[in-house]
This record gives sequence, C-alpha cells and structure tokens, in this order.
Amino acid sequence: MAYSLHRKQSVGVIGAGLSGIAAAIRLQEKGYRVQLFEREAQVGGKCLTHDLLHGDQVYPIDMGATVVALSFQKVLSLAKEVDAPMSIPNPYKIIDKNGLISSLREYYWRGGRKLDLIHQFLTYLFQVRSFHKNYVTKTGYRAKIPYLYRMPFAQYCHERGLSDILPWFDLPVAAWGYKTPEDLPTWYVMGEVDVLGLIGLFMTILKGKSQFVKTFSHGYGQLAAELAAHYDLDIQLNDAVTAIRRDSEGVEIESRSGKAYFDFVILSNPQLVSILADPSPAERTFFDDLQFAPYANVLCRLSKPIDAKLLVEPNLRQQSRIRMIAAPYENVPLVVCYLSIEKNSDAYSVEAIVERDLALLGIELEEIHKTRIWNNYFPHFSSFNGYEALLAAQGENRTLYVGAINQFEFTEASVSTAIHLVDKHFPDLHSLSSKYFSWLHNLQYWFK
Ligand SMILES: Cc1cc2nc3c(=O)[nH]c(=O)nc-3n(C[C@H](O)[C@H](O)[C@H](O)COP(=O)(O)OP(=O)(O)OC[C@H]3O[C@@H](n4cnc5c(N)ncnc54)[C@H](O)[C@@H]3O)c2cc1C
Repeated sequence: MAYSLHRKQSVGVIGAGLSGIAAAIRLQEKGYRVQLFEREAQVGGKCLTHDLLHGDQVYPIDMGATVVALSFQKVLSLAKEVDAPMSIPNPYKIIDKNGLISSLREYYWRGGRKLDLIHQFLTYLFQVRSFHKNYVTKTGYRAKIPYLYRMPFAQYCHERGLSDILPWFDLPVAAWGYKTPEDLPTWYVMGEVDVLGLIGLFMTILKGKSQFVKTFSHGYGQLAAELAAHYDLDIQLNDAVTAIRRDSEGVEIESRSGKAYFDFVILSNPQLVSILADPSPAERTFFDDLQFAPYANVLCRLSKPIDAKLLVEPNLRQQSRIRMIAAPYENVPLVVCYLSIEKNSDAYSVEAIVERDLALLGIELEEIHKTRIWNNYFPHFSSFNGYEALLAAQGENRTLYVGAINQFEFTEASVSTAIHLVDKHFPDLHSLSSKYFSWLHNLQYWFK
C-alpha cells in the first residue's frame, strides 16, 4: 500500500451521524486532519428532520432523535456553539385502550401511597448512584457488570422492594427502549434513565408537566448540518465506504468515489466491521454477537390535533405495536407514530399496522405523509462476550468504534462516548483551549 505523507496525522471517519461529527470536531480541535465519509445525501444519520409543508407553512419534523434533556451536557455544549433554538414539546400523556388520555401525574401518582413512592424512589436513586460509581460512566457500561445488574429490571425491582415505581420506567425505557422492563437488563435501564436525568423524570411525574426535555426547534438534522458547517468539516456525501484495509503503515478506505489513505479510521456504526478486509479475532467475535432492533416511524395527519406525546399504556403492548404517538406542534394535527417492527418489513405493511393501531386507540387517521424504516438500528450484543470483544478491539489496528452500541441510546450517550474515546486514544497534537464551566453556560442556554 502506498501512503502519502501528511504533515498532520490523518483520520478517516465513516458516518456523519452525531457521533462521527462529534469525533471529527474533537479530532480537529486536537490538531488532526479529518475526512468524513457519509453514505447518504445529508449528514445526521438517525438525527433526521423532514420539512413538511402543511397549509402554507413548513414544519420541521424529527423522524429520528427528538428530545434533548438538561443532562445532555455534551450535546448542549455543541448546540450552544451554533445557537440552535430550543422549544418545549407537548407534554407526555398516556393513552389507554378506550382512547382515554391521562397525564403522567394522574396515571402514576394515583392512590394513597405517596410516601411509599418517595421512599422507593430515593432508595432507587441511591442504588443507581452506587452502580454508576462502581461500574459505569455516563457514556455506557465500561466494566464487567455483576450478575445483580444483568437480571431483568422488573425482577431487580421486585426483589429489592421497588415494585411501586417500576411502572415509571415505562416512559423512558419501554416506550423509547423498544423492549419492556421484563426483558431489559438492569444495567441498561440504569444507564439510560441516568442519561435522561432521573430527577427530571420524577419532577415530571410529580408536577404533571414535561419540563425535563426540550426539542431543537429546527430539528436534530438541522443541528447536525449546522455543526458540520460551523466546524468546517470535510465531508464527502453520497459516498458509501465499501472496504477498509489496514496494515502497519496506515489505512486504505475504499468508497464509491475511490481510494483514500489515512493513519487511522473511526467507524461510527459497529456493523461497519463487516467491510473490514482483515478483521481481528476480537472484531469477528463482536460482529458475530451483534444484533439489531428494527424500528419505524410514520408521519401522519390526523382528523384533529392531539397536543400531546401519547405513550401507549403498557398493558396494550400485546395489541398495539405503536409505542408512542407524538404531536410535535400545538394545534397542528401532525403526529409521528413510533413502532417496533419485524425485520425487513416494507413500508406498506408498516403503514397498515399504523392504520390498525390508531383505530384501536380511537384515533382517526387522515393521511400518511412519510414512513421511515430503521432496519439495522439499535445495535446491541446478544451476550457480554460481544461487548468485551469490542472493548478489546478499541484502538487496535488503527481503528476506533464510536456510536451507539447499547440498543437505543440517546444522542448524549453517542456523542459523549465518541468524545471520550477520541480523548483516550488520540493524544493532543497541540494544546487544547479548555472551556471552563461549560455546564454553567449550558444552563444559561437551556433557560434562555
Ligand atoms: C426513531 C428514533 C428516535 C430517537 N429518539 C431520540 C431522542 O428523542 N433523543 C435522543 O437523544 N436520541 C434519540 N434517538 C437516538 C439518536 O438518534 C442516536 O443516539 C444518535 O443519532 C446516534 O448517532 P450515531 O452517529 O451514533 O449513529 P447514526 O446516526 O446511525 O450515524 C451513522 C452514520 O453512518 C452512515 N453510514 C453507515 N454505513 C456507512 C457506509 N458504509 N459508508 C458511509 N457512511 C455510512 C449512516 O448513513 C449514518 O449517517 C432516536 C433514534 C431513533 C432511530
């Protein structure tokens, strides 16, 4: 292989989703020459915003990531740089089988056992802190997890006297996490809820308002595009990478547009390991262990607005595949339905399910505008071997893996993991200007 000599060390980043973008920004700050390769015609990946013309107005509608929480410190630091405007979304509510809608407070805070709930909440908070202190960083699990945290979350709660607060986790976990507390391991729930901000969730249930999350008014996709422009990132769009060859001198990246040579490569989706010409035993192991949770969302117009983000009541899960019906705007009858699907479903069958499930919930559908199927999404490992093999492969053979690897992960987990890994594996080539008290600036930005 012939490598050109670069004055700076060079890195090829595959994928211009938020983790690829965050890794590239950090590398550029550290003095590396970075080039991103993106398969699609736009940046953002799962941060995908669809601009819908409705009446005479354009509505940016997020078809992937939507919410941002005050605890998303890295995402907020980036968003602040481009001064991305934020707004408060419609409140979360629950819809049951009769089509009855109740607030989180009415649903979760009923009955006369409020002291029990508070006691269980504080106990859980204490346990989650201890789990994080010992085993995990905000960016995902990073150490060997004891059996206690591998058991299903529902079992964990029952065994530890936390049964009354178990239903609360349907909001951040089952509705968005694409499984149920009976299936999901405890470490996942603890990690996910912590990224979102447990106190925020508690306050939402207590106060009955959804102040704990916001959305980017122009959409997450627009945020990704603005970051790419602001940091002047070198991105080749419509340029799917088809092969990666590594040797002791460097990395050859072959894409639709030709071959390019780098000192290192960063893959922003673990599935990309399949295009390595020379996977190591560790890379083979984690690839064999890799699974995905197919998912879809459908943008539709209803006969009348619902002004809420409706979570489908947990005991309707057998009957309805729709998990959430989110109306991004007040008094506008547009909603995005989120549903888990079978692998390789086509748009036609997904839309038929949406029509059926909306009718089941007593909601009248007028028109479907757009369907987005996420087939190879929410990557995760079927056993701990896969995750441990991935850890072993990190930084080996001039290669780093960033991006979500724990099923559904929030943007904050993806972005902070990317920054963490870049900092760990790439020394600064020149001194970095540190941004002091960025959380304080983030706070000002959040409440602006
Ligand atoms: C329906 C849905 C709802 C969500 N809701 C939220 C939410 O409300 N809040 C939140 O914080 N997070 C949410 N998320 C999660 C969030 O979107 C992800 O954590 C985040 O966007 C992941 O970014 P990433 O860069 O790791 O991966 P991706 O965005 O998947 O980026 C990977 C990129 O790699 C590119 N690529 C793949 N293969 C190749 C190739 N061979 N060559 C070149 N490029 C390639 C892809 O096109 C893509 O752009 C949601 C996700 C989905 C799907």
